[in-house]
Amino acid sequence: MAVPVSQAWTVATYVLKQKFNGRKRYPLVLMLEPLFRCNLACAGCGKIQYPAHILKAELSPEECFRAVEECGTPMVAIPGGEPLLHPKMPEIVAGLVARKKYVYMCTNALLLKEKLHLFKPSKYLSFSVHVDGQREHHDFSVCREGGYDIAMAGVKAAVEAGFRVTTNTTLFDGADPNSVRAHFDELMTAGVESMMVSPGYTYDKAPDQQHFLGRAKSKKMFRAILSNRKKTWRFNASPMFMEFLMGKKDLRCTPWGMPTFSIFGWQKPCYLLQDGYADTFQELMDTVQWENYGTESGNPRCANCMVHSGYEASGVNYTFGSLKGLLQTVRAMFSRYDDEGAQKILNEWRPESHGPLVQIAAPGPASQPNQLQSVSGD
Ligand code: SF4
Repeated sequence: MAVPVSQAWTVATYVLKQKFNGRKRYPLVLMLEPLFRCNLACAGCGKIQYPAHILKAELSPEECFRAVEECGTPMVAIPGGEPLLHPKMPEIVAGLVARKKYVYMCTNALLLKEKLHLFKPSKYLSFSVHVDGQREHHDFSVCREGGYDIAMAGVKAAVEAGFRVTTNTTLFDGADPNSVRAHFDELMTAGVESMMVSPGYTYDKAPDQQHFLGRAKSKKMFRAILSNRKKTWRFNASPMFMEFLMGKKDLRCTPWGMPTFSIFGWQKPCYLLQDGYADTFQELMDTVQWENYGTESGNPRCANCMVHSGYEASGVNYTFGSLKGLLQTVRAMFSRYDDEGAQKILNEWRPESHGPLVQIAAPGPASQPNQLQSVSGD
């Protein structure tokens, strides 16, 4: 199973309770961004170039706990920035675990090995390591030679120390499906519990604007990657979200499904767009004009979006929305998606060269301007 039974049970009962109470819009995972500082500078990152005083700012543990209690989600993802740069991250994680929240601490793992002793293994805690592909592809993606080896050493150390370790992989145009599949094998061999994969989002401020995937390209790529699945692969994404990526299912975005809280407050409307901030979770839910977002709205910023943070909650909602959704999900959990057409795509795929690796200077002290922060792979 891709997640512990207790987690699956907690999430299922939470969603059913929301439905039983007739709650039309409910959050599933809190995206908690306690800081924007990072020790990487990825070319595909869009949350960039905050001034020094913003990069120095952090949420306190109390602010994090208040946000979690306000929105009441059973799961909390901690992206950023690089969470391991937050001096009180062990305290934040311990507080969330004590509240019985399932925590995914997203990290590029550059500091994971050296900071592992600050955390305790728990069924509630998973390190979600950002690895964008095999060595060459990952290093290119994060603009850091050697980044892959450090991340994988962090993965192995955390697995050996008894932690739950998952991964998140963000794919951009130029990704080679055959290499991604080989990467899945590497991750499973390294003892990773389960993997999440998502297309990147076209951040208009990202340094590299040429390598984002359009919807048609995304579906073709994910059909090739996720069909003809190996028995050894385990994923920590909703089966319906994965069918959506493969072009087998149409889902509408649920931007409220993964609300984002950062030093600015509750971000409107989703993890990717910044159309203002609300002081409280309720204000966020009440003041966003939700009909203006999602691909169907005609909003050009949503046109090509298929990201996990917008559509994972849609997949879960679909599962629990009807008996049909439930049955389709059960069938999907046992399907390998045999697909000759997808195999043909793989056989004929010619990998593109993505050119030489350009290392963007990793951020130094927060007093320096023009620093970039890492995309979380969502
Ligand atoms: S489609 Fe994407 S960008 Fe638009 S609201 Fe949904 S998650 Fe945000």
